Amino acid sequence: MEKDTDIAIVGGGLNGPLLALALSRAGFHVTVLDAVPVEVHTDPDFDGRSYALALGSQNLLRALGLWDGLADMAQPIEDIVVADGRAGFGATAHHVHFDHHELEEGPFGVMVEDRHLRSALMAAVQADDRIEMRAPARVVAQQTDTRGAALTLEDGTVLTCKLIVGCDGRGSDTASRAGIRRMQTDYHQTSLVCALEHEHPHDGVAHQMFFAQGPLAILPLRGNRVSIVWTESTERAQAIQALDDDNYLAALAPRFGDFLGDVQLSGARFAYPLGLSLAEHWTAERVVLVGDAAHGIHPLAGQGLNLGVRDVATLAEVLTDAKRRGEDWARGPVLERYARWRRFDTAGLAMATDGLNRLFSNDNTLLRGLRDLGLGAVNATAPLRRGFMREAAGLGGDLPRLMRGRPL
Ligand SMILES: Cc1cc2nc3c(=O)[nH]c(=O)nc-3n(C[C@H](O)[C@H](O)[C@H](O)COP(=O)(O)OP(=O)(O)OC[C@H]3O[C@@H](n4cnc5c(N)ncnc54)[C@H](O)[C@@H]3O)c2cc1C
Repeated sequence: MEKDTDIAIVGGGLNGPLLALALSRAGFHVTVLDAVPVEVHTDPDFDGRSYALALGSQNLLRALGLWDGLADMAQPIEDIVVADGRAGFGATAHHVHFDHHELEEGPFGVMVEDRHLRSALMAAVQADDRIEMRAPARVVAQQTDTRGAALTLEDGTVLTCKLIVGCDGRGSDTASRAGIRRMQTDYHQTSLVCALEHEHPHDGVAHQMFFAQGPLAILPLRGNRVSIVWTESTERAQAIQALDDDNYLAALAPRFGDFLGDVQLSGARFAYPLGLSLAEHWTAERVVLVGDAAHGIHPLAGQGLNLGVRDVATLAEVLTDAKRRGEDWARGPVLERYARWRRFDTAGLAMATDGLNRLFSNDNTLLRGLRDLGLGAVNATAPLRRGFMREAAGLGGDLPRLMRGRPL
């Protein structure tokens, strides 16, 4: 039966447009629906949010032809320093220094500002004849059966398709409408996010410092600017967020230290309450989940979007190969192939970030001793260090073609 589109993607945040571009390269017709108008996503004002994109994700951007437009605005992550911090003293002597020269592929990845990434994605989507972007378009209902699927929008429009992809974030209604439940825990932590301008050069070094209330990540941006993800207990974070800019910086100073000289705020300040949110299943009849709709993890390793990018590359490859073989690509056996491929990587990262947060976000003397011992051991053991570096760069495990920079 004729359908309005092959694949309807609910959610035009980051993973939705990326998936649409990957699928279009393989000849699928795709419709992306987002509740928010496109202009909101592409607002050029700098809003302080940025992403650490691992080398594997950068490979995918390159394979999809997006990298050339982003390269000049991206800051390579040359080194990563992970330290057990003490408020008032900054990083302690217990730390691991990951030097990209030990990695034959080069820097671990790049820092890209949210505004640049979203604008590049939207421009590519709008220029693509096989992709239709509808926004604002809120999906309010979905129907699926063995013959096809349909989405109902808030204005009553019905869109028919062969497959629905839920890219609608942590609270995914696509998942709940399909009867998929999720496991959720509240970390009772909130990340404060903003960008800072500073006096001394950052040399492309990313810092991750662990404090009893939560980690502080200092991530290099182009120029003398860094993006921070400063995690505190939710109660304390709310109090800090309510401060004026001067007092906000004064509260940050004991953790940030003075290694970058004088610092000033650059752009707006954000607060993100943190939790772990994992869908119990990734597929249902003609429905599949991608990105935060499938897994929302702690941001301490900067891997949430990278995990979503790996979903995108994997789903695009599985669907493309199934289509080339003449299989019914929108049905259970094919979708399960995708879910099986992604399960181990996702579970591993969700557990690792959850475990690291529990191990480091406390002031227990015994645990402090243990983790300092651990950091010292990793720092002193080259093969262990290189293993962590390959994982951070998104080069570990069984990678789909796009993550290796190859076409579909
Ligand atoms: C503090 C913080 C720092 C982070 N830093 C990093 C980092 O450095 N590196 C990294 O890899 N990851 C990072 N992440 C994770 C990353 O931000 C997320 O993984 C990513 O934004 C998820 O993108 P998404 O497209 O899956 O979902 P979202 O960005 O949540 O997009 C979902 C979209 O769906 C739309 N939508 C929802 N419901 C409907 C509906 N009914 N109809 C139509 N549209 C709908 C919404 O409007 C939205 O646009 C960080 C996260 C946090 C909280």
